Amino acid sequence: MSEESTAEEVVEHGYARPMVRIRGLHKSFGDLQVLKGIDIDVKPGEVVCVIGPSGSGKSTLLRCVNLLERPTRGEIEVDGVVLTHRDCDLDKARRRIGMVFQQFNLFPHLTVLENVTVAMRKVLKVDKKTAVETARGQLASVGVGDKAGEYPARLSGGQQQRVAIARALAMRPHLMLFDEPTSALDPELVGDVLTVMRDLAESGMTMLVVTHEMGFAREVADRVVFMDDGVIVEEGAPAQVIGDPQHERTRTFLHRVL
Ligand code: ADP
Ligand code: MG
Repeated sequence: MSEESTAEEVVEHGYARPMVRIRGLHKSFGDLQVLKGIDIDVKPGEVVCVIGPSGSGKSTLLRCVNLLERPTRGEIEVDGVVLTHRDCDLDKARRRIGMVFQQFNLFPHLTVLENVTVAMRKVLKVDKKTAVETARGQLASVGVGDKAGEYPARLSGGQQQRVAIARALAMRPHLMLFDEPTSALDPELVGDVLTVMRDLAESGMTMLVVTHEMGFAREVADRVVFMDDGVIVEEGAPAQVIGDPQHERTRTFLHRVL
């Protein structure tokens, strides 16, 4: 070939470094094998949604990505750092991985503003003025700018979850992990959180999202991964996996949730 290769070709041919690279991931709790050999790549800027029945290992997978759970076997690489390497500085590697849980996990005794500034101050050593400015900006961007002085208990679930997202984003993550972020919310509050996530995806954030929101997965995901019983049963474009599943297990699951 005489033509020079473009950046896009490089990505297409797989030379560009993935943001997440999971290889041969196994995780057991005692005798219970939860993950039985998972391989996933997530490219920078890509949104991958993980779907699957309860108990299939989705949360365990996500928790292995930032080593909240230590894999029994396999390799996890995020942003060029091999987290499963025994010499890896985990605290440092985790700094740029944001995680949002089903149950918000805000500090109840801190105000909304303090919830967002605390890790910036303590972990990133950002000065107070900059931390407060950043926090106010993030809170405004998720639509809760007027709640900075409130305590979490005074907010709706949807507002609390948006604060949790703002808190994660304030750390300037390179990767965001979401574990069923809307599952604990009243139905009328789900939309606001999904809108924030959609905007984040459009801004180019790399996202690995466990969700039961098939509408979101269809519209926002670049790729959908269907997991069952600790393995990936099928994966591909949302229109393919959700719209035209090839496996009986995927069809059975989709019949239940759609
Ligand atoms: P999902 O998120 O898909 O519902 P999980 O990853 O939470 O699935 O759980 C998968 C399986 O692993 C379940 O059987 C669950 O009980 C088990 N499991 C998860 N965490 C632990 C743990 N810390 N100790 C023992 N078993 C666990
Ligand atoms: Mg789960």
